[in-house]
Amino acid sequence: MTKAGLDPEQRSYSIFDVPLFKMKKDEKARILVIETEFEVEFRHWVEETGYVFCLGDYKTMLDTGQDLPHCVMCKAAQQYKAISQGRRSFVTLMVQYRTNSKGQVLTPYSFDIHPWVFGDDKFNDLLNKKEQWGDLRAHDLLVECTGEQYQKFRMDVLPEAIWLKDAKLKGEIAQAYKESRQLYAKDIRMLLGRTITEPDRLTEIINGAAGTVTVPDYASQAEVEGAFSDVGKAEPTDFSQLLEGTPEVPAEAEATEVAEAEQPAVAEVPAPASAPVQKPVAAKVPVEAPGSVNFDDLLK
Ligand SMILES: [Zn+2]
Repeated sequence: MTKAGLDPEQRSYSIFDVPLFKMKKDEKARILVIETEFEVEFRHWVEETGYVFCLGDYKTMLDTGQDLPHCVMCKAAQQYKAISQGRRSFVTLMVQYRTNSKGQVLTPYSFDIHPWVFGDDKFNDLLNKKEQWGDLRAHDLLVECTGEQYQKFRMDVLPEAIWLKDAKLKGEIAQAYKESRQLYAKDIRMLLGRTITEPDRLTEIINGAAGTVTVPDYASQAEVEGAFSDVGKAEPTDFSQLLEGTPEVPAEAEATEVAEAEQPAVAEVPAPASAPVQKPVAAKVPVEAPGSVNFDDLLK
Protein backbone atom coordinates (compact mmCIF):
# COMPACT_ATOMS: atom_id res chain seq x y z
CA MET A 1 0.00 0.00 0.00
CA THR A 2 1.36 3.41 -0.92
CA LYS A 3 1.59 5.94 1.86
CA ALA A 4 2.02 9.70 1.75
CA GLY A 5 3.56 11.39 4.74
CA LEU A 6 3.02 15.02 5.69
CA ASP A 7 6.17 15.77 3.85
CA PRO A 8 6.91 18.77 1.58
CA GLU A 9 7.83 16.37 -1.21
CA GLN A 10 4.29 14.98 -1.14
CA ARG A 11 2.67 18.36 -1.72
CA SER A 12 0.54 18.45 -4.85
CA TYR A 13 1.05 21.31 -7.23
CA SER A 14 -1.11 23.08 -9.77
CA ILE A 15 -0.12 26.12 -11.78
CA PHE A 16 -3.72 27.31 -11.32
CA ASP A 17 -3.11 27.71 -7.60
CA VAL A 18 -0.33 30.22 -8.19
CA PRO A 19 -1.72 33.77 -7.84
CA LEU A 20 -1.57 35.69 -11.10
CA PHE A 21 -0.36 39.28 -11.18
CA LYS A 22 -3.64 41.20 -10.96
CA MET A 23 -4.45 44.69 -9.80
CA LYS A 24 -7.48 46.56 -8.53
CA LYS A 25 -8.59 49.83 -10.12
CA ASP A 26 -6.34 52.77 -9.17
CA GLU A 27 -3.92 50.44 -7.40
CA LYS A 28 -0.24 51.04 -8.08
CA ALA A 29 2.47 48.43 -8.20
CA ARG A 30 6.20 48.45 -8.73
CA ILE A 31 7.28 45.51 -10.81
CA LEU A 32 10.31 44.00 -12.52
CA VAL A 33 10.18 42.06 -15.79
CA ILE A 34 13.13 39.70 -15.87
CA GLU A 35 12.37 37.58 -18.93
CA THR A 36 13.40 38.94 -22.31
CA GLU A 37 11.05 36.66 -24.22
CA PHE A 38 7.68 35.25 -23.26
CA GLU A 39 5.52 32.23 -23.85
CA VAL A 40 3.05 33.16 -26.57
CA GLU A 41 -0.05 31.63 -28.17
CA PHE A 42 -2.82 32.73 -30.44
CA ARG A 43 -6.01 31.69 -28.71
CA HIS A 44 -9.74 31.74 -29.33
CA TRP A 45 -12.26 32.52 -26.62
CA VAL A 46 -14.93 29.84 -26.95
CA GLU A 47 -18.11 30.38 -25.01
CA GLU A 48 -18.81 27.56 -22.55
CA THR A 49 -15.29 26.21 -22.95
CA GLY A 50 -12.79 28.99 -22.31
CA TYR A 51 -9.58 29.77 -24.12
CA VAL A 52 -8.55 27.27 -26.78
CA PHE A 53 -5.28 27.57 -28.67
CA CYS A 54 -5.52 28.46 -32.32
CA LEU A 55 -4.34 25.65 -34.57
CA GLY A 56 -3.15 28.06 -37.24
CA ASP A 57 0.44 28.73 -38.20
CA TYR A 58 1.96 31.39 -35.96
CA LYS A 59 3.41 33.46 -38.80
CA THR A 60 0.21 33.26 -40.83
CA MET A 61 -1.79 34.38 -37.80
CA LEU A 62 0.62 37.22 -37.18
CA ASP A 63 0.44 38.33 -40.81
CA THR A 64 -3.26 37.92 -41.51
CA GLY A 65 -5.05 37.33 -38.19
CA GLN A 66 -6.53 34.05 -39.35
CA ASP A 67 -5.51 30.71 -40.80
CA LEU A 68 -8.63 29.16 -42.30
CA PRO A 69 -6.99 26.07 -43.83
CA HIS A 70 -5.46 24.96 -40.54
CA CYS A 71 -7.79 26.13 -37.77
CA VAL A 72 -11.45 25.21 -37.61
CA MET A 73 -11.95 27.80 -34.88
CA CYS A 74 -10.71 30.58 -37.15
CA LYS A 75 -13.46 29.44 -39.54
CA ALA A 76 -16.06 29.18 -36.81
CA ALA A 77 -15.15 32.65 -35.56
CA GLN A 78 -16.39 34.06 -38.86
CA GLN A 79 -19.75 32.44 -38.30
CA TYR A 80 -20.41 32.54 -34.56
CA LYS A 81 -20.14 35.45 -32.18
CA ALA A 82 -19.52 33.07 -29.32
CA ILE A 83 -16.11 32.21 -30.75
CA SER A 84 -13.56 35.00 -30.94
CA GLN A 85 -10.95 35.46 -33.58
CA GLY A 86 -7.51 34.20 -32.64
CA ARG A 87 -5.76 36.80 -30.54
CA ARG A 88 -2.25 36.73 -29.26
CA SER A 89 -1.61 36.27 -25.57
CA PHE A 90 1.55 36.07 -23.54
CA VAL A 91 2.55 34.73 -20.17
CA THR A 92 5.71 35.28 -18.17
CA LEU A 93 6.89 35.31 -14.61
CA MET A 94 7.52 38.70 -13.05
CA VAL A 95 8.54 40.22 -9.74
CA GLN A 96 6.23 42.47 -7.75
CA TYR A 97 7.82 44.45 -4.95
CA ARG A 98 5.68 44.83 -1.86
CA THR A 99 4.55 48.44 -1.72
CA ASN A 100 1.96 50.65 -0.11
CA SER A 101 -1.10 51.60 -2.15
CA LYS A 102 0.81 54.47 -3.74
CA GLY A 103 3.40 52.13 -5.15
CA GLN A 104 6.10 53.13 -2.70
CA VAL A 105 8.32 50.21 -1.83
CA LEU A 106 8.17 48.97 1.74
CA THR A 107 11.33 48.39 3.73
CA PRO A 108 12.80 46.01 4.51
CA TYR A 109 12.39 45.01 0.91
CA SER A 110 10.15 42.10 0.06
CA PHE A 111 8.65 40.81 -3.14
CA ASP A 112 6.41 38.20 -4.73
CA ILE A 113 6.83 36.33 -7.99
CA HIS A 114 3.70 35.93 -10.09
CA PRO A 115 2.77 34.62 -13.51
CA TRP A 116 1.50 37.51 -15.65
CA VAL A 117 -0.89 36.96 -18.56
CA PHE A 118 -1.27 39.81 -21.01
CA GLY A 119 -2.21 40.69 -24.57
CA ASP A 120 -0.70 42.59 -27.46
CA ASP A 121 -1.30 45.99 -25.88
CA LYS A 122 1.04 45.34 -22.98
CA PHE A 123 3.53 43.45 -25.12
CA ASN A 124 3.77 46.43 -27.45
CA ASP A 125 4.02 48.76 -24.48
CA LEU A 126 6.90 46.72 -23.03
CA LEU A 127 8.61 46.63 -26.41
CA ASN A 128 8.29 50.40 -26.81
CA LYS A 129 9.75 50.91 -23.37
CA LYS A 130 12.62 48.55 -24.08
CA GLU A 131 13.40 50.43 -27.28
CA GLN A 132 13.39 53.72 -25.43
CA TRP A 133 15.10 52.72 -22.20
CA GLY A 134 17.16 49.67 -23.07
CA ASP A 135 17.24 46.51 -21.00
CA LEU A 136 14.13 46.47 -18.81
CA ARG A 137 15.88 44.32 -16.23
CA ALA A 138 17.74 47.47 -15.24
CA HIS A 139 14.51 49.44 -14.72
CA ASP A 140 11.53 48.91 -12.48
CA LEU A 141 8.10 49.62 -13.91
CA LEU A 142 5.54 51.64 -12.01
CA VAL A 143 2.15 50.29 -13.00
CA GLU A 144 -1.21 51.86 -12.30
CA CYS A 145 -4.41 49.95 -12.95
CA THR A 146 -6.89 52.06 -14.90
CA GLY A 147 -9.44 49.30 -15.50
CA GLU A 148 -9.77 46.24 -13.35
CA GLN A 149 -11.94 43.98 -15.47
CA TYR A 150 -9.53 43.87 -18.39
CA GLN A 151 -6.49 44.80 -16.33
CA LYS A 152 -5.83 48.02 -18.16
CA PHE A 153 -2.51 49.47 -17.06
CA ARG A 154 -0.59 52.64 -17.35
CA MET A 155 3.09 51.68 -17.22
CA ASP A 156 5.92 54.09 -16.50
CA VAL A 157 9.58 53.16 -16.61
CA LEU A 158 11.59 54.17 -13.56
CA PRO A 159 15.21 55.22 -13.91
CA GLU A 160 16.46 52.53 -11.60
CA ALA A 161 15.77 48.97 -10.52
CA ILE A 162 15.77 48.46 -6.79
CA TRP A 163 17.12 44.94 -7.03
CA LEU A 164 20.31 46.19 -8.64
CA LYS A 165 20.91 48.72 -5.88
CA ASP A 166 20.73 46.28 -2.99
CA ALA A 167 23.09 43.31 -3.10
CA LYS A 168 21.08 41.26 -0.64
CA LEU A 169 17.82 41.85 -2.50
CA LYS A 170 19.48 41.07 -5.81
CA GLY A 171 20.64 37.71 -4.53
CA GLU A 172 17.27 36.91 -3.01
CA ILE A 173 15.32 37.81 -6.14
CA ALA A 174 17.71 35.95 -8.43
CA GLN A 175 17.48 32.82 -6.30
CA ALA A 176 13.70 32.93 -5.86
CA TYR A 177 13.20 33.71 -9.51
CA LYS A 178 15.34 30.81 -10.65
CA GLU A 179 13.37 28.48 -8.42
CA SER A 180 10.02 29.78 -9.67
CA ARG A 181 11.14 29.54 -13.25
CA GLN A 182 12.21 25.97 -12.77
CA LEU A 183 8.99 25.08 -10.95
CA TYR A 184 6.56 26.78 -13.33
CA ALA A 185 8.26 26.51 -16.71
CA LYS A 186 6.61 23.21 -17.59
CA ASP A 187 3.05 24.35 -16.88
CA ILE A 188 2.94 28.12 -17.26
CA ARG A 189 1.56 27.90 -20.80
CA MET A 190 -1.56 26.24 -19.39
CA LEU A 191 -2.52 29.63 -17.98
CA LEU A 192 -3.18 30.81 -21.54
CA GLY A 193 -5.58 28.04 -22.51
CA ARG A 194 -5.44 24.53 -23.85
CA THR A 195 -4.82 22.65 -27.03
CA ILE A 196 -7.75 20.78 -28.52
CA THR A 197 -7.09 18.92 -31.76
CA GLU A 198 -9.50 15.98 -31.64
CA PRO A 199 -12.13 16.64 -34.36
CA ASP A 200 -15.12 15.33 -32.38
CA ARG A 201 -14.19 17.46 -29.39
CA LEU A 202 -13.73 20.52 -31.62
CA THR A 203 -17.15 19.96 -33.16
CA GLU A 204 -18.63 19.57 -29.71
CA ILE A 205 -17.21 22.81 -28.32
CA ILE A 206 -18.10 24.77 -31.46
CA ASN A 207 -21.66 23.50 -31.33
CA GLY A 208 -21.77 24.26 -27.64
CA ALA A 209 -20.62 27.81 -28.24
CA ALA A 210 -22.92 28.34 -31.23
CA GLY A 211 -25.91 27.75 -28.98
CA THR A 212 -24.94 30.61 -26.71
CA VAL A 213 -25.03 34.30 -27.44
CA THR A 214 -22.88 36.14 -24.94
CA VAL A 215 -19.28 36.88 -25.71
CA PRO A 216 -16.73 38.77 -23.63
CA ASP A 217 -16.35 42.40 -24.52
CA TYR A 218 -12.84 42.73 -25.82
CA ALA A 219 -12.03 46.25 -24.81
CA SER A 220 -10.23 48.28 -27.41
CA GLN A 221 -6.64 49.06 -26.78
CA ALA A 222 -6.13 52.16 -24.70
CA GLU A 223 -3.29 54.35 -25.80
CA VAL A 224 -1.38 55.31 -22.73
CA GLU A 225 1.57 57.62 -22.88
CA GLY A 226 4.12 57.11 -20.17
CA ALA A 227 5.14 60.12 -18.12
CA PHE A 228 8.84 59.80 -18.43
CA SER A 229 11.18 61.23 -15.89
CA ASP A 230 14.86 61.78 -16.49
CA VAL A 231 16.75 58.74 -17.60
CA GLY A 232 19.09 57.37 -14.98
CA LYS A 233 22.20 55.49 -15.94
CA ALA A 234 22.09 52.01 -14.47
CA GLU A 235 25.28 50.20 -13.60
CA PRO A 236 26.04 47.56 -16.22
CA THR A 237 24.91 44.18 -14.94
CA ASP A 238 25.69 40.77 -16.33
CA PHE A 239 22.16 39.38 -16.24
CA SER A 240 23.17 36.15 -17.90
CA GLN A 241 25.54 35.44 -15.08
CA LEU A 242 23.06 36.54 -12.45
CA LEU A 243 20.40 34.17 -13.70
CA GLU A 244 22.84 31.48 -14.82
CA GLY A 245 22.83 31.07 -18.55
CA THR A 246 20.15 33.46 -19.72
CA PRO A 247 20.59 33.89 -23.46
CA GLU A 248 20.13 37.36 -24.88
CA VAL A 249 17.43 37.82 -27.51
CA PRO A 250 18.15 40.06 -30.47
CA ALA A 251 15.86 43.06 -30.20
CA GLU A 252 15.05 43.02 -33.91
CA ALA A 253 13.51 39.55 -33.69
CA GLU A 254 10.83 40.80 -31.33
CA ALA A 255 10.39 44.03 -33.22
CA THR A 256 9.65 42.27 -36.50
CA GLU A 257 6.91 40.19 -34.97
CA VAL A 258 5.26 43.00 -33.15
CA ALA A 259 5.25 45.53 -35.95
CA GLU A 260 2.56 43.62 -37.75
CA ALA A 261 0.36 42.89 -34.76
CA GLU A 262 -2.30 45.46 -34.15
CA GLN A 263 -5.00 43.60 -32.37
CA PRO A 264 -7.16 44.82 -29.52
CA ALA A 265 -6.37 43.84 -26.01
CA VAL A 266 -7.57 40.46 -24.94
CA ALA A 267 -9.50 39.97 -21.75
CA GLU A 268 -7.12 38.24 -19.43
CA VAL A 269 -9.15 35.45 -17.96
CA PRO A 270 -7.17 32.36 -17.04
CA ALA A 271 -8.45 28.96 -18.01
CA PRO A 272 -10.82 27.70 -15.33
CA ALA A 273 -8.99 25.64 -12.78
CA SER A 274 -11.60 22.94 -13.02
CA ALA A 275 -11.16 22.49 -16.75
CA PRO A 276 -9.24 19.49 -17.95
CA VAL A 277 -5.94 20.69 -19.28
CA GLN A 278 -4.12 19.03 -22.09
CA LYS A 279 -0.42 18.97 -22.52
CA PRO A 280 0.89 22.28 -23.81
CA VAL A 281 2.11 22.34 -27.39
CA ALA A 282 5.69 23.18 -28.25
CA ALA A 283 6.54 26.81 -27.69
CA LYS A 284 6.65 28.97 -30.77
CA VAL A 285 8.53 31.58 -28.83
CA PRO A 286 10.31 29.34 -26.37
CA VAL A 287 11.02 30.43 -22.87
CA GLU A 288 14.65 30.60 -21.94
CA ALA A 289 16.30 27.47 -20.70
CA PRO A 290 15.67 27.01 -17.01
CA GLY A 291 18.48 27.95 -14.71
CA SER A 292 20.70 25.27 -13.31
CA VAL A 293 18.72 24.83 -10.12
CA ASN A 294 18.92 21.26 -8.93
CA PHE A 295 15.65 20.42 -7.23
CA ASP A 296 16.99 17.32 -5.62
CA ASP A 297 19.45 19.51 -3.78
CA LEU A 298 16.94 22.29 -3.28
CA LEU A 299 14.40 20.10 -1.55
CA LYS A 300 16.88 18.38 0.71
ZN1 LIG B 1 -7.50 29.81 -35.15
